[in-house]
Amino acid sequence: MARLLLHPGKERTVLRRHPWIFAGSVDRLDGRARLGDTVDVVAADGRELGRAAWSPASQIRARMWSFDTGAAIDHAFFKRKVAESVARRASHPMLATQDGQRLIHGESDGLPGVIADRYGAVVVLQLTSAGADKWRDAIVAGLVQATGCTAVYERSDSDVRRLEGLEPRTGCAWGELPDGPLLITENGVRMEVDVVGGHKTGFYLDQRDNRKLTGELAHGRRVLNCFCYTGGFSLQALAGGATSVLSIDSSGPALATAARNLAHNPQLDAARAAWQEDDVFEALRALRAEGQTFDLIVLDPPKFAPSAAHAERARRAYKDINLFGFRLLSPGGILMTYSCSGGIGLEMFQKIVASAAGDAGVDARIIHRLAAAADHPVGLAVPEGEYLKGLAVQVG
Ligand code: SAH
Repeated sequence: MARLLLHPGKERTVLRRHPWIFAGSVDRLDGRARLGDTVDVVAADGRELGRAAWSPASQIRARMWSFDTGAAIDHAFFKRKVAESVARRASHPMLATQDGQRLIHGESDGLPGVIADRYGAVVVLQLTSAGADKWRDAIVAGLVQATGCTAVYERSDSDVRRLEGLEPRTGCAWGELPDGPLLITENGVRMEVDVVGGHKTGFYLDQRDNRKLTGELAHGRRVLNCFCYTGGFSLQALAGGATSVLSIDSSGPALATAARNLAHNPQLDAARAAWQEDDVFEALRALRAEGQTFDLIVLDPPKFAPSAAHAERARRAYKDINLFGFRLLSPGGILMTYSCSGGIGLEMFQKIVASAAGDAGVDARIIHRLAAAADHPVGLAVPEGEYLKGLAVQVG
């Protein structure tokens, strides 16, 4: 096995179990390794640190599979890691009854570059690192064995694969997709999941618990749901007794799915729902100009800052939508506002929201801190990952 030698001092993060080794930490590779091969990681003083996947094209030059120097990185290793990840969800009380579940959350489950989401009997797999790509067959076999699913559909079409020197890859890796739409039940609401053409793996599972809270807060309120995608927050709000729900997204296909989702739930009063295909930045201004107000507003935008380098532009975008959110709230109204930008931490996000409230001249307090659901664990060693953060803020 090739040996990856680190510069002096660069073993420190690995000893603290951080799974990434950046290009600048690497002294040299002794021996030959191809894309995704397993290498021994060795400190400058010769101390062995564990085993990692080699990613020569990426700034993250290697990702640790194991901090155990003798670990066999083989088919059985991946089947075991997959089974452990699935078992963690199965034993979690909040996840027991969920059709939609993230089964593998990359680094947090010890499997860098591996995402697996379950939608009923179908598992969607996304592989984003060279090492993960190399072990596809073992990971798929592990998922089939651990879940008893009828299909594993691969959605390895994320842009980050290019940084690893990998081509996109999509299609059934095992079994067959069911005919017709794939439906899951989330907090009592039926939702269609387009695993082939939807965003990410088809659905935003990380917001499941926050959608539930929205439903619980919605009774008797006029709701505005910005960046609604397929209507997850909108339908929970209707189910919770909202008097009206206006939902805005710029994606026509997402809104078409949202309309079908409403139809899948005949128990909901469709007359209370309105859908608008629009840019949220412009729509908020237009609503303000019309003098409209709402009692509950959800702002769940896409990632404005993929990395710290985009933080300033992202800060302005978050400030803008939150400012208009506050301006559109009625007295006693609640803003549920989110960021999934890796480049913006919770503290900075709170500052942005506070500054927006200040500019809007409202008196506001945080009534809930919002985070990703329990099937999206965040490694303790990861200070600011691309995890979801949010605040529920009530105005005076
Ligand atoms: N809240 C959703 C997920 C939102 S994902 C859920 O719970 O499922 C972000 C959404 O923002 C996507 O649907 C995307 O189409 C939409 N979007 C991105 N930029 C936008 C813009 N400027 N105006 C309106 N929608 C936008």
